[in-house]
Formats: sequence, structure tokens, C-alpha cells
Amino acid sequence: MVKCLITGITGQTGSYLAELLLEKEYEIYGIVRRGSTINTRRIDHLIDNDNFKLHYGDLADANSLTRIIKQVKPNKIYNIGSMSQVRVSFDIPEYTLQVTGIGPLRILETLRSLDMKKTKFLQASSSEMFGSSLPPQNENTPFRPQSPYGVAKLAAYHLTKIYRTGYGMFTCNSICFNHGSPRRGETFVTKKIVRAACRIKLGLQDKVTLGNLEAKRDWGHAKDYAHAQFMIMQHSEPDDFVIATEEYHTIHSFLREVFKRLNLDYHEYVRFDKRFLRPNEVPELKGDATKIRDVLGWKPKISYSELIDDMIKNAMLEEKTGINQWG
Ligand code: NAP
Repeated sequence: MVKCLITGITGQTGSYLAELLLEKEYEIYGIVRRGSTINTRRIDHLIDNDNFKLHYGDLADANSLTRIIKQVKPNKIYNIGSMSQVRVSFDIPEYTLQVTGIGPLRILETLRSLDMKKTKFLQASSSEMFGSSLPPQNENTPFRPQSPYGVAKLAAYHLTKIYRTGYGMFTCNSICFNHGSPRRGETFVTKKIVRAACRIKLGLQDKVTLGNLEAKRDWGHAKDYAHAQFMIMQHSEPDDFVIATEEYHTIHSFLREVFKRLNLDYHEYVRFDKRFLRPNEVPELKGDATKIRDVLGWKPKISYSELIDDMIKNAMLEEKTGINQWG
């Protein structure tokens, strides 16, 4: 049976990926960070599956990664884990580099030093690596990161390539543009807007405070992006692929759309606070996904409009039932 190790399994995309790989009858080993509160809500429904096992570990702790890799001997590693908040990376840049930049290196070095070069590796890279480069961005676009997060992801991207070209390992980059879902973390702007709109509709909240509304982003559904990552690892050759929907919208238009669907006028509820601005902004990210479409036949199944509907439906249910299913 194929053994897959997933970092970031408790997060949005890692949890969809775990579901998908279990459907494919793979044996799943997830790395979970030790915290003082339980953070497995997105994967609790998988825990009884005999092919699903969790290990405590941390991308900042090489010993834990080496121990788990030695014990599991995975055929494939999906490195989905990361300090994933761009704005927060300005507050904790050193930690961001440690986890998001050097974390993947710790895994790659473990594979090399244990002579496990046949283990396939996928890195969850980010469109934030393109930074100020003009859209549409594809695999040949120059990288101009504008945040510690973007720099950390770019280091990991290059290291992933170096282990491929230098050591002949099967290492791939999935260069993901923004993706959301009902499982998106509460601090990310799309989830924050959807949750606030639902709470305002239900009379539980009276305003929402946001930062830059003019940034343009290419938003897909995390479930589709997990599927693309699976396809990248199934390909006969290790390679790097942009994953994107090829359409973009401002945060402003996302906000307007969400409130409109709930028959609310957002002007009445939205406040601005410069605390939510990044020191450096990335104005426009829109992917060109020609390569993954042509080489792997991947295209997104869930539209932008369906993504918004899915997020609203789930957030409403959460607010009405009081059960925050996805954290
Ligand atoms: P997410 O929901 O924030 O999940 C991040 C995951 O990483 C969580 O499971 C988190 O664990 C884990 N993690 C954080 N620090 C860790 C550490 N020190 N050691 C081990 N695990 C750690 O992010 P996502 O939306 O699923 O994104 C998945 C990946 O794609 C991330 O690498 C992200 O940077 C990248 N990406 C995301 C987007 C997007 O728009 N979503 C776009 C481009 C790239 P806890 O549950 O313990 O916090």
C-alpha cells in the first residue's frame, strides 16, 4: 500500500488532500503540531479510518521530522504545512523563515541523508512568490516576493528544485494561487468577510473591520487545489505547476458579492483599519494555468460563484448551530 505523509493535515487544504488520498486507498500519516488546545476539527471525521494515522511533529523541529520519516518510510510526502498568513509573516519574519522556508529543507535533507531518494516530495508553493510581477503569472514569470512569507516560500521553491536537479529526486512545486473553502481559517480575509456577513445577517455582529480592499486575487476552491496536487505527484516526471483559476477579483468585489447574496448593503457595516494593511502590498495575482491544463488535464471544477455559495452556506450553518465544524 502507498504510504503518504502529509504536513499541514490539520489545515484547510491538507484536510481535503487527506480525504482524497484515503479515497484512493492510500495509507495516510499526518503530522500534527503539539499545542495546548486540540486542533484536529478538520480531520476528526477521518480519525476512525484504519488507514489514517497521526504523529506529533513540527516543521521547526528537524528531530521530529526525521523520527517520523524513519518510522513511516513514506512513498510520498506532501509538504502542505506552513506559517501561512502573509500579514502575520511581517510580525514574525524569523519564525516564518524557520517553518515555511527551512521546514521543507529539513524534510528534503532527511530524505537525502537516509538515502530515501525514491520518496516523492511535493511542496505547497505560493503565488506570493511572484509578488510585484505583473499578471498573468506562470511558471516563467520572474519572482519578486514582497513579504517574509513570499521569501520563505521562494527559498523552499528553489530548494525543492535543487534537490530535483542536484540529487535526481522526485520533487515538485505546486505554485498555488489563493484558495478558500468553508475550512479556511478565520483570520484570512475571505473567511473573515463571509463569517462577518452571516453574523450581521443573524444580528450577532454589527460591523467588520478590514484593510486593503483593492488587492486583486485569483480565488479557487481548496478541494480542487488538493486534487491538482495529487495529479502533480501522479505525473511521470517531477515538475513545477501553477494552480489557478485564471480569473481575478478585488477583495472589494468579493465583499460586495457576499453581502449582496445575503441582501445586505456592505457600506453600512464595513470599517477600515490600517492595522490590517501589509507594509508591502501585492496588488495583483492572477495565474496562467496553461501548463497544468495542457500537461495534466487539470482544471478547476468549482467556480468562484460556487465557492462563495459554499462558504456562505457553511458559515450560516456554523452560526446557527454554534458548531464551528472546520475551525
Ligand atoms: P492553513 O489552513 O493555514 O494550514 C496550514 C497548516 O500548516 C496547518 O495544518 C498548520 O497546523 C500547519 N503548520 C503551521 N505551522 C506549522 C509547524 N511549525 N509545523 C507543522 N505544521 C505547521 O493553510 P492552507 O490554506 O491549507 O494552505 C496550505 C498550504 O498552501 C500552506 O503551505 C500555504 O502556505 C500554501 N498556500 C495557501 C494558499 C491559500 O490561499 N490557501 C495559497 C498559496 C499557498 P495548525 O493546525 O497546528 O496551525
